[in-house]
Amino acid sequence: MTDFAATRAMFDLPEGVIYLDGNSLGPLPRGVAARVAQTITGEWGEMLITGWNRAGWMDLPARVGDRIGRLIGAQPGTVTMGDTLSIKVYQALASALELRPDRRVILSDTGNFPSDLYMAEGLCRTLGGDYRLKTVAPEAVEAAIDPSLAVLMLTEVDYRTGRKHDMARLIAKAHEAGALVVWDLAHSAGAIPVDVTGADADFAVGCSYKYLNSGPGGPAFIYVAPRLADRVRPALSGWLGHEAPFAFDLDYRPAPGVERMRVGTPAILQLAALDAALDVWEDVDMTDLRARSLELQEIFLTRVEATCPDLTLASPREAEARGSQISLRHPQGYAIIQALIHDGVIGDFRAPDILRFGFTPLYLSPDDVTHAAEKLSAIMQARLWDRPEFHARAKVT
Ligand SMILES: *Cc1c(COP(=O)(O)O)cnc(C)c1O
Repeated sequence: MTDFAATRAMFDLPEGVIYLDGNSLGPLPRGVAARVAQTITGEWGEMLITGWNRAGWMDLPARVGDRIGRLIGAQPGTVTMGDTLSIKVYQALASALELRPDRRVILSDTGNFPSDLYMAEGLCRTLGGDYRLKTVAPEAVEAAIDPSLAVLMLTEVDYRTGRKHDMARLIAKAHEAGALVVWDLAHSAGAIPVDVTGADADFAVGCSYKYLNSGPGGPAFIYVAPRLADRVRPALSGWLGHEAPFAFDLDYRPAPGVERMRVGTPAILQLAALDAALDVWEDVDMTDLRARSLELQEIFLTRVEATCPDLTLASPREAEARGSQISLRHPQGYAIIQALIHDGVIGDFRAPDILRFGFTPLYLSPDDVTHAAEKLSAIMQARLWDRPEFHARAKVT
């Protein structure tokens, strides 16, 4: 059994704060600051440029990729790190489209994160012709899969509602129709068990600064199925995805396997932070994590349902249909979240009316979520959110 008291001890959380926003920005694991300091002073400071070889910086994207691979059911050597998630979405999508040259349609859903949709729109515009992005309601995706599709592009867990797609089932349906599938695992990696190999995913991408705790702006990951990895032609064909970057050839030849999805110089400080953050996962079993996440969600939801009649559930009521978050709706959602933060419970708000709460068993206990639900009830019952300072909107919600 995973020891969640031990994982809790591996985080530095501020006193008096219950953090229900690890789905948006994971908190600081204890080992990270020392590791980044060592990378700065011991490696960069002492080794200077020789650090690329002596400190293994050049191999860090692959090494860290394998550690994330273990959490998403990917074989060693099939995941690499770099850039931001938006860039990785673009890369995966462009490569997938090129593998289906006779087809023009990308299918996604209206629950997808806007950046994924924007990247797809931009790519269609660049490719010209009749490439197009089609979006349907999340519930209508399965029925909309047909042989016109080049690529099905979905985020497994909806960032707003926490609703979870049935990955294996949709992949099977898309493959039957001859389409490829790109999965965004931003709210899956480190949140729920994922098995990209078992589900036969073609491409998967995700970020590291949410449930994987790499810190603001941490690098993204990309997975390419081994059966495709030597066939895909990266649209962003940078020198570090070249077969021999230090040959400085004038022509691009892709590196073998997923390494070709690297673009430029990796962000070593952020990768070092992520590498240290991943130590927390060493003895975590994803089945235990899922069971604990659902237990925490149930404690929270049962209390909120019993005491806050004005809050409506935006997430599926059925536990198995959710990822690791619960979302509630209220027209004054923004002010309610501000009042909660004032009271030491950090969640977040997504326009127009969603209050979001992430459940992260690595550092949240049943007591924490009970207290959080009690504070939310107190705020709702006494309308404590209705103060002018809680209505003032900041740039980031
Ligand atoms: C968080 C998130 C992003 C953010 O992309 P960045 O390029 O890292 O800013 C994109 N897609 C989804 C589904 C997300 O949840």
